[in-house]
Amino acid sequence: MNNEERTEIESLGEFGLIKVLTENNSTINPNTIKAVGDDAAVLNAGDHVKLVSTDLLIEGVHFDLSYVPLKHLGYKAVVVNLSDIYAMNGFPKQITVSIAMSNRFSVEAVEEIYKGIYLACENYKVDLIGGDTSASKHGLIISVTAIGEAKKEKIAYRSGAKENDLIVVSGDLGGAYMGLQLLEREKSIFIENPAIQPDLDGNDYLLERQLKPEARKDIIELLEVLDVIPSSMIDISDGLASETIHLCDQSNVGASIYDEKIPIDPMTYQRALDFNMDPNVVALNGGEDYELLFTIRQSDYDKIKGNPNFTVIGHIQSKENGIQLIAKNGTQHELSAQGWDAFLKSKKS
Ligand code: ADP
Ligand code: MG
Repeated sequence: MNNEERTEIESLGEFGLIKVLTENNSTINPNTIKAVGDDAAVLNAGDHVKLVSTDLLIEGVHFDLSYVPLKHLGYKAVVVNLSDIYAMNGFPKQITVSIAMSNRFSVEAVEEIYKGIYLACENYKVDLIGGDTSASKHGLIISVTAIGEAKKEKIAYRSGAKENDLIVVSGDLGGAYMGLQLLEREKSIFIENPAIQPDLDGNDYLLERQLKPEARKDIIELLEVLDVIPSSMIDISDGLASETIHLCDQSNVGASIYDEKIPIDPMTYQRALDFNMDPNVVALNGGEDYELLFTIRQSDYDKIKGNPNFTVIGHIQSKENGIQLIAKNGTQHELSAQGWDAFLKSKKS
């Protein structure tokens, strides 16, 4: 390594760094159908495919134990991984769990995390099949790998969107981010005055979205029943804007998204206003909703029409169109991804 050359990781960001690290990655095993670049890797397994996805959760970066209960943390660590398997239109079957902790944690504390892990396994019908355990110098680190299966003809890559496809999201967006804002606010009040008890009443939906998210297994099952195979799909972990850009980049297309169509729960909407935030900005850039963003052919529209689980928020256009966010009054501007990263940075600074 040349000492004079030093590129700050910050200058690339997470996605830029992954690109630098993997752009020359070539695979040699014919069974590796899809390596880096989607929500999960896709491996040929004869009459079906195996899906593999991994995530890393670091204390102080991804979670704050001053308000995250250990059981919820275990549950969420599993769920966020399962979400990446569903985002391929497949079903998770097994997980491995690796964990490192400092001596700040007792056996009982780690057991509490595992209660959440086992509950997620039960709810999503997956088996815990292994992992690794280590000491850490500081704090808690959890890594989960999920292994899933899909029928070959059903896999939904990020790269399959075509011009005129409809863009659909499940559920509603921005709730997890507002849940985080509430928890952070109560934390800072508590730090300033420990005698004041947290006031989180009436915000159950938002707190649940942040602390105990669910992966949309039900949506994948519903799409199967409705006989809809998404032409492309991604899960919304970093925010709608960022994921829309990933999907369009990988599909080599542009898009038009209608601001007023973005689904926002009334409680998310109200709390955003309370915090002097624009609810649409929250829904576009707040992370961790773990909803699914996907595209369907126009000919499949009748199959999802009127279903309360789905909202059509726009359509795919040619790449030259760019990715446009269209306001109610018809004005439009190019969508940019502030994403989760940017939120974290602005929070820290
Ligand atoms: P997601 O948000 O769906 O978990 P990421 O943004 O974390 O996806 O990752 C994007 C893609 O890059 C995935 O295919 C992932 O497997 C791959 N990836 C991320 N980090 C690395 C790494 N350090 N080495 C190789 N591949 C990576
Ligand atoms: Mg994903």
